[in-house]
Amino acid sequence: MKKEILVATHNQHKKEEIQQILGEHFNVTSLTDYDIHDEIVEDGKTFHENALIKAKYCFEKTGKPSLGDDSGLVVEALDGRPGIYSARYAGNHDFAKNIAKVLDELKGEENRKAYFVTVMCLVDETGENYFEGRVYGNLIKESRGEKGFGYDPIFIPENHEITFAEMKPEEKNVISHRKNAIEKFLKFLEH
Ligand code: IMP
Repeated sequence: MKKEILVATHNQHKKEEIQQILGEHFNVTSLTDYDIHDEIVEDGKTFHENALIKAKYCFEKTGKPSLGDDSGLVVEALDGRPGIYSARYAGNHDFAKNIAKVLDELKGEENRKAYFVTVMCLVDETGENYFEGRVYGNLIKESRGEKGFGYDPIFIPENHEITFAEMKPEEKNVISHRKNAIEKFLKFLEH
């Protein structure tokens, strides 16, 4: 029988993305499968702390190996902002407003360097393990492209000329921060 991994999310899209990658070896479940609808309070000060909070919560509730993750955009010239506050940088979950705030803060700034990061944390009976993925690039001055989500329209990954929002999902998904983190997780599972 396949081993189970519980992904600490209600987001069906996130669950399916992980299922696609791990499904061959694992039975991937989510909080929805356990009828757990509590809002997990992500009050960590780092991506690592937030990923741990989510994974630990699920492990304590169910006893199943649990995977939590936290992602965001880190901008060099903004001392790392929006960072862990990426989802609600302009006060709510409005992607366009978040982008506008970042671009406004970068007005007149020459240094456009930024990276996306994902930290995943696996909690099981043996303890905690972390897997971090990054993708480096530059922020442009005006949004371009309709695909993707979040800050994709202003982010051009290194060695590319189009934004994440102009790329097909297949193109983004082979170089993304999330892909890099999942790859490290897969390597860990092989040992
Ligand atoms: P989460 O932790 O995966 O929910 O991501 C938190 C926030 O970071 C999102 O709401 C986005 O604003 C931003 N973010 C994370 N990953 C991406 C990405 O691949 N593209 C654009 N924005 C992202």
